[in-house]
Amino acid sequence: MKALIFENELKQVEIPESECQNNEALIKIKMAGICNTDIEILAGYMNFHGVIGHEFVGVVEEVAGDSSLIGKRVVGEINIGCGSCEYCLRGLQRHCPSRNVLGIFQKNGAFAEKITLPIQNLFPVPDTITDEEAVFIEPLAACIEIFEQIHILPGESVAVIGDGKLGLLIAIVFNQFGCRVSLIGKHRDKLAIAAKSGIEIHQSDKEFSTKFPIVVEASGNASGLVKALALIRPRGTIILKSTYHGEVSLDTSKIVIDEINVLGSRCGRFGPAIRLLEHKLIHLDELISGIVPFDDYIKAFELARQKNTLKVLLKF
Ligand SMILES: [Zn+2]
Ligand SMILES: [Zn+2]
Repeated sequence: MKALIFENELKQVEIPESECQNNEALIKIKMAGICNTDIEILAGYMNFHGVIGHEFVGVVEEVAGDSSLIGKRVVGEINIGCGSCEYCLRGLQRHCPSRNVLGIFQKNGAFAEKITLPIQNLFPVPDTITDEEAVFIEPLAACIEIFEQIHILPGESVAVIGDGKLGLLIAIVFNQFGCRVSLIGKHRDKLAIAAKSGIEIHQSDKEFSTKFPIVVEASGNASGLVKALALIRPRGTIILKSTYHGEVSLDTSKIVIDEINVLGSRCGRFGPAIRLLEHKLIHLDELISGIVPFDDYIKAFELARQKNTLKVLLKF
């Protein structure tokens, strides 16, 4: 089967088809999304070498064990836990110390004709969700994770820093929840997408006279963290969604003096993300910059790297 392997460079190669181990399903990929994490992996993030890609929708072809999933269209949670540690037993496979992560850590990813994943990671996709929308379930779940981590009141003011794919999606989710969202970004076109759903948009963080109880940093740049500290009110919560290359130097005194909570936030549960899409509560069409055939991966990655691009999808 064809797969996109990263080993010093990204190339499409022919590799043997994956085989289902115990409790795994073999999934034929229909569509996959290019995430910033994929682009970071190409720059050395996680030191990962193998098949990249973790946002996908596909159809189950084979199952080791339960056959009721065969033929079903599915998406899959990307963290594969050991199944027996204290985290896995609490349903937190995404914090299992010996987890593998699809296309990111010790597990071949979704930019391939077929992948395997444990059955418990899979979620059938309702018919009302298109393939294009289904690819967003993974990043959407990462946005909803914030609501599992802190108690947020509807109507609360939230600043989101970063108008990339994730920042926009976070702003849209908070807006849907009823928060008063201010999105701070650099790209007029991307900000305009948010403005259409009633999100306040800003091209500078200097425009605010009042501070926010919640600031989400999703700019992908360490300078976003400095901005977040400038925007947060005493006793507020800064939510960090970006991973940065290397270390960040930061004046931590403000965090102490203003008693600020700093909360890291990564992957989330798929169930709520599926429900938001199933009931058409979130609209994603405008977040798609291109749908490119899998064989044209070079073109797809070139497009994904451009500054004004949002989500690029690979079609199989
Ligand atoms: Zn991702
Ligand atoms: Zn575990």
